[in-house]
Amino acid sequence: MEFRQSNKLSEVCYEIRGPVIEHANALEEAGHSVLRLNTGNPALFGFEAPEEIVQDMIRMLPRAHGYTDSRGILSARRAVAQRYQALGLEVDVDDVFLGNGVSELISMAVQALLEDGDEVLIPAPDFPLWTAVTTLAGGKAVHYLCDEQAEWYPDLADMEAKITDRTKAVVIINPNNPTGAVYPKEIVEGILDLARRHGLMVLADEIYDQILYDDAVHHSAASLAPDLVVLTFCGLSKTYRVAGFRSGWLVVTGPKQHAKDYLEGLTMLASMRLCANAPAQYAIQAALGGRQSIRELTAPGGRLHEQRDVAWEKLNEIPGISCVKPKGALYAFPRIDPAVHKIHDDERFVLDLLLREKIQVVQGTGFNWPSPDHFRILTLPHAEDLEAAIGRIGRFLSGYRQ
Ligand code: PLP
Repeated sequence: MEFRQSNKLSEVCYEIRGPVIEHANALEEAGHSVLRLNTGNPALFGFEAPEEIVQDMIRMLPRAHGYTDSRGILSARRAVAQRYQALGLEVDVDDVFLGNGVSELISMAVQALLEDGDEVLIPAPDFPLWTAVTTLAGGKAVHYLCDEQAEWYPDLADMEAKITDRTKAVVIINPNNPTGAVYPKEIVEGILDLARRHGLMVLADEIYDQILYDDAVHHSAASLAPDLVVLTFCGLSKTYRVAGFRSGWLVVTGPKQHAKDYLEGLTMLASMRLCANAPAQYAIQAALGGRQSIRELTAPGGRLHEQRDVAWEKLNEIPGISCVKPKGALYAFPRIDPAVHKIHDDERFVLDLLLREKIQVVQGTGFNWPSPDHFRILTLPHAEDLEAAIGRIGRFLSGYRQ
């Protein structure tokens, strides 16, 4: 008897933890040390979880052994609701769903929405879970281009040209993974205007909303469109450096009377997975009400700020590489000039880099970018490690031919 994966998976692609990982694992098993610059996991790079969150979780652990309400414990949902009320939004505890990370909530939200063949507008490049989950739900991911020449902002004309009568929703990832773009108000408003005119649900992935550099300001989609049904996704993984806790939330805002049936479906999916991990739910109130702030890391002089600067400067020093300065999040998405370096297959490039230099990055096509001329690197390692790694990438590229 041979067991085969479901046909439902045949078109699903998720490269961040993709096949190159097997090679990285094999190298480590053979005794090599591999610099893993593929997943945005702050804990791997010496970022500690804030002490007050850990202590609060430990304190609550003896009371966190039972299932909770499917949407989540009230104290955490109240803390989340207050976070968005402070932005001027009308949010009630019943509008908040807690999940095992934003990932689970993205999956639930998309599953509950799509019929077979329904289309979702998703950025290219994207955080590829959006595309994978849409495909798995029987939908069609339609990628709108973000424009590298314009700070990686979404190309609104391209987005509008791709709207059809099957388009159900538009995904906004702001600040963006992988580009680090933070969208100005006019861009967010432009997307919302399209959603308004074409009756689309807005799915706003704002997991990096506090990870901002320089003068970047985050404009939450929900606060600019109280007249639209907006689902905002955020959580503790990045801002609070506790990705392993698996703790996130989804907030529904706007005219919920137009989404009554959808919300019943979402509620059913929430109850089918019983509840999110309870101890991690207890971390939410401590995090959101706590004293610690990521500003210490993102402001000038802070570790993340310095690393972002080093990554951007050193990448741009490599002949044939150019990189737009990230204004938020934890990544850079440099371009490899095809006139200088001939790369036809960027997965092969990433694998060759891994085998030769023991550095693991992710190819641009893994983010649904249409051509093999980009890769994503984390800005999480210490500045000296980043500088050394980027130096090695530069030397590797200088002699690399495909
Ligand atoms: N959304 C974006 C844009 C991300 O980059 C990530 C993780 O890297 C997630 C969602 C998932 O985060 P979580 O750990 O909350 O599942």
